[in-house]
Amino acid sequence: MNSQLRQIPQIETLLRLPDVLSLTDAFSHSEVAAALRDELGDLRAAVLAGKRGELPDFNGAAFRAAVEDRLTRIRQPNLRAVINATGIIIHTNLGRARLAPEALQAMQDVGAHPSNLEFNLETGKRGSRYAHAEALICELTGAEAALVVNNCAAAVVLGLMGTATGRKVVVSRGELVEIGGSFRLPDVIAQSGATLKEVGATNKTRTRDYADAIDDDTAVLLKSHTSNFKIIGFTSSPKREDLAELAKAHDLILMEDLGSGVLINLAPYGLTDEPVVRDILAAGVDLVMFSGDKLLGGPQAGIIAGRADIIAGLRSHPLLRALRIDKLSLAALEATLRLYRAPFDPLKRVPVLRMLSEPVIEVEARAGLLVAMLGDMGVTGAEVVPASAFVGGGSLPQQDLASFAVSLHLEGLSADALAEALRKGAMPIIGRIHQGRVQLDMRTVSDDELRSIAAAIGDIASR
Ligand SMILES: *Cc1c(COP(=O)(O)O)cnc(C)c1O
Repeated sequence: MNSQLRQIPQIETLLRLPDVLSLTDAFSHSEVAAALRDELGDLRAAVLAGKRGELPDFNGAAFRAAVEDRLTRIRQPNLRAVINATGIIIHTNLGRARLAPEALQAMQDVGAHPSNLEFNLETGKRGSRYAHAEALICELTGAEAALVVNNCAAAVVLGLMGTATGRKVVVSRGELVEIGGSFRLPDVIAQSGATLKEVGATNKTRTRDYADAIDDDTAVLLKSHTSNFKIIGFTSSPKREDLAELAKAHDLILMEDLGSGVLINLAPYGLTDEPVVRDILAAGVDLVMFSGDKLLGGPQAGIIAGRADIIAGLRSHPLLRALRIDKLSLAALEATLRLYRAPFDPLKRVPVLRMLSEPVIEVEARAGLLVAMLGDMGVTGAEVVPASAFVGGGSLPQQDLASFAVSLHLEGLSADALAEALRKGAMPIIGRIHQGRVQLDMRTVSDDELRSIAAAIGDIASR
């Protein structure tokens, strides 16, 4: 063992070997030295642990490739693309909505060139960044006016600061939600300088409860979509029409934090709990807030839509500047919204909607294709199994979507070890472990990712 350790050369010696030295064509001298140090460190550890038979040929292709592999990994960006095989369509930890090609193109155009972000091409004078998406949002939701900010959390904060600071906001006890990342509605209301007035009970709140709570200090009746949990059983909450009537009678603003916010009816795809923005506004809600990167399927953004007089007030709020949307997100949002208009079919063009509306037989076919590709590579231990996919992103917690997955078992690898190997590949693949097997859900994977997935699995199987 000690003699083997002594045969491991010094880094300076290795750097004089032509094959190793040629790595400095593409990488700096210090990067190559660092990669060599790591490679030799692992080698020494393996020898000491008795896990190493022969030492490698330090002047050979295999050693060079191992060092080059380390160098390539060092150069990889920290934030990078992965394959989402979790079956959760809007996975917050994996970046939520995938963007449509049209949205990516818009970001490319606006990012690579100057743009009319705040310049009016008609008049040649200063313009507003908030004008670009407004008409589209109004057209798609029936709103009088709209304002786009950084995300839905910012939209809620701005909405409250612009209407209720120093006054009272009435909320049902059944809707005092925490969205995640410690964004809790009661705290947000407090931060906006308003006072929370809770009404009703966790499971039941009536219009009467809101009415009884209203006094001279009340400014807003706030509804929040209980998007990430569900209270079932003996429950009721007032109709929006009734709350709208109440708000109107007392000259209050009825506001609703929708979270996901869908622009088209998704009930035909089994998603019955997400109300359509247009219907909510038609029911008399004055102001709605929703996300750009949940079921809308666009970039991170927060959309405020509703009454023009209220939105005019928000537009001149000093905090708006701190919450504003950036030009790349705005470009992607506008392009995504255009996909909701004729002649496009958003269910085909917006990736989030395409994934959740894809017929399950097509998902099954994709799973079959991956298993066949693996079979051609000589990988056994992959099979097609039925699975449940979810919308995610805090939406529809109890509604699962029929799906199919590829269940994987590779000889000599535990499910945890296989999941880790998939995560650590050149193109990381994130699956889930179900009943002791790694499952790759095919509802959240696209056809053009199958080749990478098969290659990664083949690579792990051949180690
Ligand atoms: C997700 C969610 C938000 C926050 O949206 P972001 O765009 O992530 O800021 C706010 N309210 C509700 C009800 C949500 O579901």
